Amino acid sequence: MEDCLFCKIIAGEIPSKKVYEDEQVLAFYDIAPMAPVHILVIPKMHISSAAEITAENSAVVAHIFEVIAKIAADLKLENGFRVVSNCGRDACQSVHHLHFHILAGKQLSEKMD
Ligand code: AMP
Repeated sequence: MEDCLFCKIIAGEIPSKKVYEDEQVLAFYDIAPMAPVHILVIPKMHISSAAEITAENSAVVAHIFEVIAKIAADLKLENGFRVVSNCGRDACQSVHHLHFHILAGKQLSEKMD
């Protein structure tokens, strides 16, 4: 989608530090990490947010969670990790292309807000 930052990353127009890629999914390191390990996992198809997941496109979300488990195993995140998807204004979503943050590498806060 034009003017979508993450679509430009998928197209290679903006560089990223890739962690994983297949036909449906790209994972790359967040440019402003909030934990020692901070990775974003995104579908290659443009879905604006978690609010736009439907019966027609939800298969890619299931695949994303398989990829998250693979990344966690490959990076040996044995102590655990957090998966977050911010959706909409109140959640401070800043990029309007569905993405899942993987946060790990330290004791994360119990607070979810
Ligand atoms: P959110 O605030 O949940 O929409 O998350 C968007 C994330 O994208 C933020 O954590 C940003 O640091 C990250 N981000 C923005 N631009 C880039 C970029 N060019 N490469 C990697 N991560 C980025």
